[in-house]
Amino acid sequence: MQGASAAYAEVISEGNSFSDRSDLILRVIDAHVHTWTHDMLSEKDIEARRIAASKAGIPPQLDAPISKLKEAMKSAGIERAVILPIDSGLNQKMPLSLREKTNWHADEIRGDKSLITFVGLDPRRGEEGLAELERAVKDKGCRGLKMYPPNGFYPDEKRFYPYYKLCTDLNIPVVIHQGFTSRFKHVKYARPVYVDKVAADFPDLKIVLAHVGIPWVDEALMVSSKNPNVSVDVSGWQAAASTVPMKVYQMVADAKFVRVFPNRMLWASDFPLFEYAMPIGEWVRFFSKMRLPSTLIDLGYSQITDSELDLCMWKNASHIFFGE
Ligand SMILES: [Zn+2]
Repeated sequence: MQGASAAYAEVISEGNSFSDRSDLILRVIDAHVHTWTHDMLSEKDIEARRIAASKAGIPPQLDAPISKLKEAMKSAGIERAVILPIDSGLNQKMPLSLREKTNWHADEIRGDKSLITFVGLDPRRGEEGLAELERAVKDKGCRGLKMYPPNGFYPDEKRFYPYYKLCTDLNIPVVIHQGFTSRFKHVKYARPVYVDKVAADFPDLKIVLAHVGIPWVDEALMVSSKNPNVSVDVSGWQAAASTVPMKVYQMVADAKFVRVFPNRMLWASDFPLFEYAMPIGEWVRFFSKMRLPSTLIDLGYSQITDSELDLCMWKNASHIFFGE
């Protein structure tokens, strides 16, 4: 048996050939998705989407209803997903009030056990936001807090600490957008280093740094590596996977080197925003069957295994988001 597995290890360490996983049932949680309809978007959001779409050479995505998400999950074999609404109400005139938006997301997933939703909140809302956080979790069943710093705040300001305290008391995780940012928001707020102090001051709070902080990948890995309560999600990396896959391999190799991979990395897509780059089913296959190419192994990086990838595809998210 040992001989067989050693031989297998040798086969899979030969460059990037995919292993045969037909004997394994692959379970997948998408740790980062979005839903919206055009009547929930602000005029600024619509303009930003038009700009992003024209850069990508695709029509703007003004509607991403839950039916589209469910269809994509089914075809890609994704069992569960985590919806992460964003609160931009302090920056822009939004069609829905804060409460209306929470309710919209809570209602869209009602009765669907495969989906959970967070509540999106800008912590500059102070007491009003704290009350909404509590209501969202206790009355509407929201399962975490999504923060979007590019709207104009550094997450580690002391005045926001009541939010982290409340999340700890409610036993819910926080997902924080990091890195690349759309035209009318400010990327300086989205550096992972501004989460480090929060993570250290709230060791029981589970924090996820979205997108592994692209382009501040080393910084995100540093913050996660030193804080056992901080994970990273790989949403958005389809853009690299479809054009320069070595960037994904290098990121995963570096994450393994600093022990963020496999226990603190979550597979995620940012659906539907990167479908133009790589359809979600292909992104599942790319990541779940990944092997580091021999160029990286020759440099001294350790190869990754199926059981490590299973942690990223399912187990880590099942623990953080579903309390299993
Ligand atoms: Zn997102």
